[in-house]
Amino acid sequence: MQVDYIIIGQGLCGTWLSWYLTKENRSFIVIDKNEPTTPSKVSAGIINPVTGRRMVKVWMAEQILSFAHAAYKDIGNFLGIAAISQKNIIDFFPNAHQRLVFLERMEEGEEYLSSYPEQNQFNPFFNYDLGCGEIRHSYIAHLDTLLPAWRQHLKDAKQLHEEEFEFENLVIKERSVQYGNIIAEKIIFCDGLSSFENPFFKALPFAPNKGEALIVEIPGLPNQHIYKKGFLLAPLQGNDIFWLGSNYQWSFSDAEPNKEFYEQAERHLTAWLRIPFKILEHKAALRPATLERRPFVGLHPHQKNIGILNGMGTKGCSLAPYFASQLANQLLHKKEIMPEADIKRFQRILTR
Ligand SMILES: Cc1cc2nc3c(=O)[nH]c(=O)nc-3n(C[C@H](O)[C@H](O)[C@H](O)COP(=O)(O)OP(=O)(O)OC[C@H]3O[C@@H](n4cnc5c(N)ncnc54)[C@H](O)[C@@H]3O)c2cc1C
Repeated sequence: MQVDYIIIGQGLCGTWLSWYLTKENRSFIVIDKNEPTTPSKVSAGIINPVTGRRMVKVWMAEQILSFAHAAYKDIGNFLGIAAISQKNIIDFFPNAHQRLVFLERMEEGEEYLSSYPEQNQFNPFFNYDLGCGEIRHSYIAHLDTLLPAWRQHLKDAKQLHEEEFEFENLVIKERSVQYGNIIAEKIIFCDGLSSFENPFFKALPFAPNKGEALIVEIPGLPNQHIYKKGFLLAPLQGNDIFWLGSNYQWSFSDAEPNKEFYEQAERHLTAWLRIPFKILEHKAALRPATLERRPFVGLHPHQKNIGILNGMGTKGCSLAPYFASQLANQLLHKKEIMPEADIKRFQRILTR
């Protein structure tokens, strides 16, 4: 079988790259082993325009957020699903300092932050003594619907091989690659953490980060917003089901859910909510983050038929569509990838 590309992985990165190649009528096979737990499957799908305790705008907010919104709408229309919803974040100030930071940033003219006029609106549901503000232009990407729907599309189009990709079986030739009976012009790795072991890319400065979440049933809690008070509480598809997370661990011994997180999150929710809840699930995964917090995108500087789309860290939902489109544009139209994301910047490291 001859195709233009082999893509390894159908998380956020593989989904978006295969989407842009589909739009350009290119042929490809996606190989994904369908692991039950991956960061893309554990993610809440939140796209938040501000970040950190200082509530600064995320990297390239203007370009990336509107791009992501349009991209999710587009793929959603194609699949006949709702792939994204706008849900502003109600930010319940956890302490006086955070309240001050929010108000200061608003006064400085931060366009994404605004006061919330109905300060008492959430009294029936939450305890919040210090009031709340609103983070506008936030979204939820419905990954729990989108990823399976795109997978089904690939299956129907006979473009998905549900199996483990094994490096030993890859043959790299002068102008093509061969994997079993598939011959392709290029192979692109969208395989998240597996790239850490990839002989071509393992020298890249990956810095995996563990995150955990609870899936909680909260009957009667309105689902028009995402709520924040230390933790984020985001509505999932399906009645009364919410995602509560997360933590950011740079040091860990495994990728398993941890009792400490469960207990801390449960205590937090008990103090925050005024209505009953039931914990349904506890999940954990390792985010494919990078030391300098910028993605890894592009073709290997010394192996032009091998590429990568990875390193989306904590922001895969917004970054993956944008950089998948950049990579597709490079592959098909020889356009430049933004230098901060292009793996050309690691030309020296990647010679080793
Ligand atoms: C708890 C948590 C919460 C998060 N919340 C958010 C959020 O709200 N918003 C946000 O923007 N980001 C969030 N993230 C980050 C986001 O999930 C990641 O940035 C993103 O999912 C990474 O996508 P990926 O496609 O690079 O990797 P992955 O999701 O890991 O996808 C890689 C795919 O490749 C497959 N694969 C790997 N190796 C092989 C092989 N050898 N053979 C076959 N298949 C293989 C895997 O099975 C997987 O399907 C969160 C992450 C975590 C852990």
